[in-house]
Amino acid sequence: MNLDDAFRFDQGLELAEAFYRAAQETKAAVKTLSRKYGIAPVTVSTGIAVGSALFGPTENKAAQATARSLSKGFSLDKLSVINRAVKLLNNPTKRADFRTELTQSAPALTCVELKQKANSLLRERNHVTRKDSWKRRGLRLSLQSDAMGVCHATLSLPAADMAELNNLIYPTARHAINKNPNLSQEQAMVDALLAHLGKDQIENPLNQPKRTCILLSADDLKPGRDGYLIDTNGHEHTYAEFAHMKLEEDFFHVLYFKNEIIHAGRSRFATPIQDLLLSVDQIMCAHPDCERPANHCQSHHITAYKNGGETNLPNLLKACAPHNAANDDDPNRPLNGRLERHPETKQAGYRPPNGTKLEFNKHPSVNKSGRVWANQKYQESDIVATNR
Ligand SMILES: [Zn+2]
Repeated sequence: MNLDDAFRFDQGLELAEAFYRAAQETKAAVKTLSRKYGIAPVTVSTGIAVGSALFGPTENKAAQATARSLSKGFSLDKLSVINRAVKLLNNPTKRADFRTELTQSAPALTCVELKQKANSLLRERNHVTRKDSWKRRGLRLSLQSDAMGVCHATLSLPAADMAELNNLIYPTARHAINKNPNLSQEQAMVDALLAHLGKDQIENPLNQPKRTCILLSADDLKPGRDGYLIDTNGHEHTYAEFAHMKLEEDFFHVLYFKNEIIHAGRSRFATPIQDLLLSVDQIMCAHPDCERPANHCQSHHITAYKNGGETNLPNLLKACAPHNAANDDDPNRPLNGRLERHPETKQAGYRPPNGTKLEFNKHPSVNKSGRVWANQKYQESDIVATNR
């Protein structure tokens, strides 16, 4: 079999029609077709959109027929570039002509060239100003790391502003590469950007100093009167004395007894300490699948403050601003669900409205939390996990 036979990319029109017809029959077409043919769902959705434009209901049947006959032999990718561009044209009465124009120029162009041409025509015909572009500015910082432990960011800026940014940092990057030819262009650009941001000087409240946290278990001791542990010889030790026996002085420490935090650091609980403790306890927002780290979250009262809930560790957990805001403060009026602690394991989790079971954040970082550590440590002997 030769490559031309193996790659049949010239049947975009036929594919689009088939996808569109399938979507007319069932709402589950995207799922069904992507599963059946092993293609990405986005490919099916694209095909349905193209099919709808070329075979669906229209007020201009003649223009649609022309577009169809001109589109014969195109790949689905090219048809999709055209279709997306046509939808972006502001003036609806000019869209049919715009489709014809793009379709006529498509055979001579690659997919990338066709997209560039379409974008350039759109900017011109939609009279896109810098003000319009500026509204589309954005920065997305992913908190989910890839297989190499790297998080990614997408920055969107008007072309002129992006060029300005490039002009600002490119010379620094070039200079760095000249000094160290092993640096890649991408690495040098990041270094230059961070240098220009004055990374070291930025006073960011979220930039908490890194502190090593050692989790200690009080295995051989029993809790005595408040603040004390009793060893097997009956001697009393303060929490701090016990911790000092095990640790160098300068570590911040969190002491779990069974699954309760009983001690933190060397001072009485204060809000910053509670925050730090809760962050260690959870690592992530309490809501399932949330990707917000706990140290970027708010301290949430499980029993609402206004309903008499106290600002103490058993009544607090960490939730990001949106999940904190969505929480049903009144348990008798279920709407979005509630953030709670599991009655036995005390792990912070989420109960859907009228839900019988708590759901927990499954982010891999949660496995490194103090709570999971303590629960795993005591699971067999002391804690009976139930699905309450
Ligand atoms: Zn959250």
